[in-house]
Amino acid sequence: MRIMIDGRYLPGSARVNRDLLITLRNIAKALQFGIRYDAQRELVMINSKDPSIPPLPSDNDTDERTEDENARLAGKVICLDPGHGGSDPGAIGPTGTMEKDNTLAIALLLKEKLEKSGATVVMTRDSDTEVASAEATDQEELSARVEVANQAEADLFISIHNDAFTSNTAAGTTTFHYGNKDSLKLANLIQQSLVERLDTKNRGARFASFYMLRYTDMPSILIEVAFISNIVEEMLLSSVDGRDNAAESICTGILKYFKV
Ligand SMILES: [Zn+2]
Repeated sequence: MRIMIDGRYLPGSARVNRDLLITLRNIAKALQFGIRYDAQRELVMINSKDPSIPPLPSDNDTDERTEDENARLAGKVICLDPGHGGSDPGAIGPTGTMEKDNTLAIALLLKEKLEKSGATVVMTRDSDTEVASAEATDQEELSARVEVANQAEADLFISIHNDAFTSNTAAGTTTFHYGNKDSLKLANLIQQSLVERLDTKNRGARFASFYMLRYTDMPSILIEVAFISNIVEEMLLSSVDGRDNAAESICTGILKYFKV
């Protein structure tokens, strides 16, 4: 693993190591520096001036939108569902970060980007809370989220989650859909955009019979952005730039979906 600060390599290299990654992340956070780990290149990039690290070569396509594209989502209503919340933390990563915080942060960044493109965004939750109530059953909670999307007559429903597995080496991105043509198209475009930008393993756009995907009236998908149970991907999910890259990728996929 090599370390780059402000575009310059530090001499020497170290074996990729959990403690080192955590230490670097904590230092960067404390100093309000941007930090990003590129797993493929085994490279930690730290930026002291701008918490958003300069994009990698593969990131270049989405950063500058033309004037025309700014209104591309005008009239579209998009429902974002940050997974878990309140009494339900979702999965918890090796360093203690919680899925419910990562999903909310990504969704809020995505909301901002979609609104810049002219969309109306409806959130199932926009703070650390349940959508139904703390006493509700899991089923009632899912049903409350579906209800938000259906009531809003949203054009798309996008549920954001982090994956987790007992083995801490499991890694990658998956997007689930319920098989109809539009959901499949949306899942494919977002999955493609995510793995390109995040450099994560492509686990594919897959069919799943999840309650929320079955009962939403509009094209709907559930994204497992990356594995919170994997130390490297936990950093991606909990860092400012990792979350922003995830949100940017999903936004790009949505823009492509509505382009044709
Ligand atoms: Zn989840």
